[in-house]
Amino acid sequence: MNIAATDEAWMARAIALAIREKGDDPANTPIAALVVRDGSLVAGAVNRTVERCDATAHAEVEALRAAGQAVGDMKIDGATLYTTLQPCGMCTMAAIWAGVTRIVYGAGRDQVHEMYFEDRHLSTVDYIRDAFKDDLSLEGGVAAHDCAKLYYGPDDVVPEDQQANT
Ligand SMILES: [Zn+2]
Repeated sequence: MNIAATDEAWMARAIALAIREKGDDPANTPIAALVVRDGSLVAGAVNRTVERCDATAHAEVEALRAAGQAVGDMKIDGATLYTTLQPCGMCTMAAIWAGVTRIVYGAGRDQVHEMYFEDRHLSTVDYIRDAFKDDLSLEGGVAAHDCAKLYYGPDDVVPEDQQANT
């Protein structure tokens, strides 16, 4: 399988995980992430910020934590992190700390409501992409439409109490 087909296949698994764990209603923020290395799934997780009362429990961080437990090491060197939504700056940096060398995401920032991103004036991911360009590749748009369907769109009117930053 070429790399594009491989990415599509892993993203389909991430979407399936998101829906299995959280359903497909944007109100439940079904975001999932997978850590994959050498063609094998190391760990997968969904966001648990609300359930855990933990602002850092984004799907990507949860997946990195589970992957660390799975391999018995805080580093998962050379792994790829798949995530259904463009990662935030925190998760991108967490991936770098964990030795991830490639991040592949589905829906991009422009395809979803601004509530999913805390930064307003500068994209922290763009900053990190530039600062760590020798260490990390960051690619978006894989199964983007299927991923974006799980989230509020840019023009959706989202009730204030649902605008948790997840
Ligand atoms: Zn994040």
